Amino acid sequence: MKTVRLPSGENVPALGLGTWMIGDDAQRRADEIAALRRGMDLGLSLIDTAEMYGEGASERIVGEAIAGRRTEIFLVSKVYPHNASREGTVAACERSLKRLGTDHLDLYLLHWRGQHPLAETVAAFEGLKAAGKIRYWGVSNLDAGDMNELKGVPGGSGVAANQVLYNLSRRGIEWDLLPLMQARGIPVMAYSPVEQARLLKDRRLAALAADHGVSVAQLALAFVLDRDGVIAIPKAGRAAHVEDNAGALDIVITDELRAALNALYPPPRRATPLEMI
Ligand code: NAP
Repeated sequence: MKTVRLPSGENVPALGLGTWMIGDDAQRRADEIAALRRGMDLGLSLIDTAEMYGEGASERIVGEAIAGRRTEIFLVSKVYPHNASREGTVAACERSLKRLGTDHLDLYLLHWRGQHPLAETVAAFEGLKAAGKIRYWGVSNLDAGDMNELKGVPGGSGVAANQVLYNLSRRGIEWDLLPLMQARGIPVMAYSPVEQARLLKDRRLAALAADHGVSVAQLALAFVLDRDGVIAIPKAGRAAHVEDNAGALDIVITDELRAALNALYPPPRRATPLEMI
């Protein structure tokens, strides 16, 4: 398994499992749990969830999927910005732990910036860390300016990751945020790495993937995984899709393939505002 190094020196899987929309349809529950378990079997043992997803439904399914296997998993969840006050963050974390059926999170993220000052959220995260409720904390949807601001907040240099939108069709972070994160040794977690399946409908990309004997999802994921310090967290509610995605780890992006991908989806030529889904 390819891994990515956290600032602490600990390595985590570069390919994990997203869970947005998992738990939204009760009829899909068994398939979704099976998909998550298949992912764990394949070593995709980083699971990303959030209190927002299905208002706790996703965390409950993850809890069921990881029951008895907690020690295999690097578990990530997120606090809603409106809960991210000094006390609210702690209370939200306790609720997430309960739904997940665990006593600690490996990584706890601020889902996006809201009305609460970063200093308050960071203080709450540091308190949770000291109490053993979380091992690391991080942020999500913070742009380069936000990351610089965070660095100036007391305790802000303890940030362990920033989860942002990144895929072939959303390459804006390559201009400023990704180099900044790489220089600081803080991983980027690429969310929506197959653009919520929209990339999979691109006929030109499909032709390129076919030429290389891989699936479109594999090619899109391999592009993201090729970057230093980037963790991809595709969501797949079907075991077959999880298996397909795991195959991305075997793909080498050669210079020729990179040039072909750049021709289809050019890198940014100027700074652009960080996009969000
Ligand atoms: P995504 O992973 O880019 O795409 C998910 C979609 O792609 C699902 O419809 C899935 O179908 C399909 N898919 C996945 N692998 C496939 C394959 N091999 N073949 C065919 N279809 C495939 O989008 P996402 O869910 O938005 O992003 C991934 C994760 O990132 C989320 O689940 C969440 O954990 C996180 N996220 C975070 C934020 C944030 O603000 N921090 C925002 C968005 C997402 P099936 O489900 O049918 O398998």
